[in-house]
Amino acid sequence: MIRSASLKIALIAAAVLVAPNARAATSVVIINGNAAGVGFNDTTPVAPVGGNAGTTLGQQRLIAFQEAANRWGATLDSPEPIRIFATFEPLACTATQAVLGSAGARFIYSDFGSIGLYPGPVAAATWHGGPLATKRAGFDPDPTEGDGTSTPKVADIRARFNSELGKPGCLTGIFWYLGLDGRHGNDNDLVAVLLHEFGHGMGFQQFASVTTGQRIEEMNDVYNLHILDNTTGKYWFQMTDAERKASAINNGHVVFDGANVNAAVPGVLVGTPALFITSPPAIAGTYAVGTASFGGRLTIPGISGVVVRALDDANAAGPSTGDACSPILNDVAGKIALVDRGTCGFVVKVKNAQNAGATAVIVADNAAGPVAGMGGGDATITIASVRITLADGNTIKAQLAAGPVTATVGLNGAVTAGIDNHKALLYTPAAVSPGSTISHWDVSAYPNQLMEPFINGDLTHSVRPPEDLTLPLLYDIGWFPDADLDGAADADDACPTSNRAGSIVVGGINTGVPNATFTNGCTINDTVAQIFAGAKNHGGFVSGVAHLLDSLVAQGTITDAEKDRIQSAAAHTK
Ligand SMILES: [Zn+2]
Repeated sequence: MIRSASLKIALIAAAVLVAPNARAATSVVIINGNAAGVGFNDTTPVAPVGGNAGTTLGQQRLIAFQEAANRWGATLDSPEPIRIFATFEPLACTATQAVLGSAGARFIYSDFGSIGLYPGPVAAATWHGGPLATKRAGFDPDPTEGDGTSTPKVADIRARFNSELGKPGCLTGIFWYLGLDGRHGNDNDLVAVLLHEFGHGMGFQQFASVTTGQRIEEMNDVYNLHILDNTTGKYWFQMTDAERKASAINNGHVVFDGANVNAAVPGVLVGTPALFITSPPAIAGTYAVGTASFGGRLTIPGISGVVVRALDDANAAGPSTGDACSPILNDVAGKIALVDRGTCGFVVKVKNAQNAGATAVIVADNAAGPVAGMGGGDATITIASVRITLADGNTIKAQLAAGPVTATVGLNGAVTAGIDNHKALLYTPAAVSPGSTISHWDVSAYPNQLMEPFINGDLTHSVRPPEDLTLPLLYDIGWFPDADLDGAADADDACPTSNRAGSIVVGGINTGVPNATFTNGCTINDTVAQIFAGAKNHGGFVSGVAHLLDSLVAQGTITDAEKDRIQSAAAHTK
């Protein structure tokens, strides 16, 4: 039985390969849904940017879409194309905040069938997003989209992106970066946002209401089977609606519990950003820091060195000698520069320090308050920087007046960000955020993850470890690698790269007899090749094939006449 429900889930992104045949992968097709002259069809001339050679705004948008589609296509193996119906159109925004875009599966399915070795549903009475359902069925379970009104099917995923971004009143001055190389500077990296939104479409999406806890037709989905509330010890599929509603706002205690994600967590979420003062003992210790959306990533063991206050001119660019708003005048080469927040942007300060040879930068706040991050973008900045509180900055400055200070800017491996009880935290803010709550990783993760609710400036375009947990999650909800697309997961496939030619070919002779796949994942062609490889001589090969053919006839897989044709071909091999 096929059930389908049309979904109206707006996923809010607030402020927010491999050669074919080596891996079969899948094709992800972008369907241009814009009318003439707008969106993907906007004919405004533009210059090539970051590997995107389109010559109109519309072309560049489409090329960026196809780049993200191809990355997913090279990552996931699916027997059918995944179609994304996409438009660029005006979406909600203010001068300081904008909906960048949204995407999700258009239909969800449960209790669908499967063909061949395809495994079918993860569990009975459990919702699967359309692309995942197709993957596990081995065919599109609903080629006419359920309502029978659109034939052939229009798309599996619907994507909308904001055409107004950067214009006055819509995140004013911050545009889409349409390059493919991630060097987005202060603009929004469209490819990264697309990878995020398409990730939702592939199944990074929970379907119960986060405001009421109510499930669609009171059935679970493949995602909520893995949502664990560490406070109650219950999974979402075990909860009442009221319990799910409460769990959705249990900030910091709701995790994704899946074998693939759990195994990947220690290699991806490796530590908490930190400043370690190593000497003198009077102020030695671990200091909390905010991170930057630009520059080098924090690491273990980090960057170590002597801390020096960077001094510049007090001028129109910045009124103090400690704000690093102008070129640095003293020697900070090979050292960690300490600068003050204020007047100019963080990227200006860090760039000036980098130009002077600093190996890392500590930005001390100029106002009391908790640690906070540093926004902005500049692809030419390669050194790491962190932000500390006003109080901690004053502590270091006081010590510098008395003598040298040494420090390390990096990650504290003893404390991991983004986990609770060893498992990856999901986004469950105290105030529920429909479209974002539970269907994202928590914002505390470091390094920043593709599927956090806010797109961070330091994202790579990777969807897999060691950078990212997205792909392990998709595997946990039911995707699996299947290089030869025979429906048997590579891990369980005796012939993971089968010869799946349509007919049986022996010694270069096409017998015209249909090839077939056995339950172990090997085809008849694979088996003939194995017999050839194992035979001592021609006679051994011919008798091995005869043995195989006898069993195929006995099973009813081939007829006696087909057996004769194959046997004849085998006899003619040299
Ligand atoms: Zn999202």
